[in-house]
Amino acid sequence: MTRFEGKNVFVTGAGQGIGYGVCRAFALEGAFVALNDYDAHLAESAAGQLNQELGAQRVTAFPGDVSDANVVAALINTCADQRGGLDIVLANAGITRYMPFLEATPEVFDRIINVNLRGTYFTVQAAAKRMIAAGKPGRILLTSSIVGQVAFPNFSIYSLTKAAIQMLAKSLALELGSYGITVNAITPGATLTERVIREDPDYERNWAEVTVTGRVGYVEDVVAAALFLASPEARQINGHNLVVDGGWSLRSPLPDDHPTLPDQQDYA
Ligand code: NAD
Repeated sequence: MTRFEGKNVFVTGAGQGIGYGVCRAFALEGAFVALNDYDAHLAESAAGQLNQELGAQRVTAFPGDVSDANVVAALINTCADQRGGLDIVLANAGITRYMPFLEATPEVFDRIINVNLRGTYFTVQAAAKRMIAAGKPGRILLTSSIVGQVAFPNFSIYSLTKAAIQMLAKSLALELGSYGITVNAITPGATLTERVIREDPDYERNWAEVTVTGRVGYVEDVVAAALFLASPEARQINGHNLVVDGGWSLRSPLPDDHPTLPDQQDYA
């Protein structure tokens, strides 16, 4: 399929994991992709690897730290200048840090807020300005997380950034809709990436056990959501939050012995 033939796509935090998967999928469907990552070496090698797989130069590395609003604006503007515009942007860069609330420090707080929130906010601002100036419709996607809507222990800083991103999608959908730009959030649940396997070698099995579908999320599940929201079919979807968690967040805790419930099943 070549649904995105000739489209110009910019993805942040894409040297590995979900962002890399999204870049790959857009490029396979004919898009030109700007692949951003904080780690310049990773960005260059990821872009090179994708171009080799494609047998074409459709992915370009745009290394830089999205927490610096000037850096991210320069990257977006360079990309839009080189490609003659920008059609689709995924503000995906995000960092995670487990830290009990009582041990949190201002330094850690600022770094997570700056990458996840400031980075997302000013990536979208720079992109929206270029889309509006070009007078063409655009698609903006933001990566949230399921812990932005259900609480998870020792994740307070990360979770509040991801909750804020869901509200940001709604606010920006309202402000940018009249320019033909839609803004939607994607909310992954536990998703198997190189990073999470480093953190927990049994991640796949552990999350399969507690997920309603009986399996962990894979990068391709989040990729499918991103491509759908960027596709022509999704043109009237604006300010939505698409949860991709296999139903993990749906369950209410039940008492072990509940007389009004017939034959309680063990839902995953
Ligand atoms: P990852 O850590 O595998 O990849 C993220 C990439 O972002 C890394 O290559 C990193 O170098 C880059 N990055 C970090 N800080 C950056 C910065 N300041 N500027 C530019 N790039 C930067 O992460 P992932 O698991 O693929 O997650 C991607 C997004 O999805 C994140 O926003 C994350 O919060 C979110 N998410 C992931 C999961 C999951 O289970 N994997 C679940 C929910 C949400």
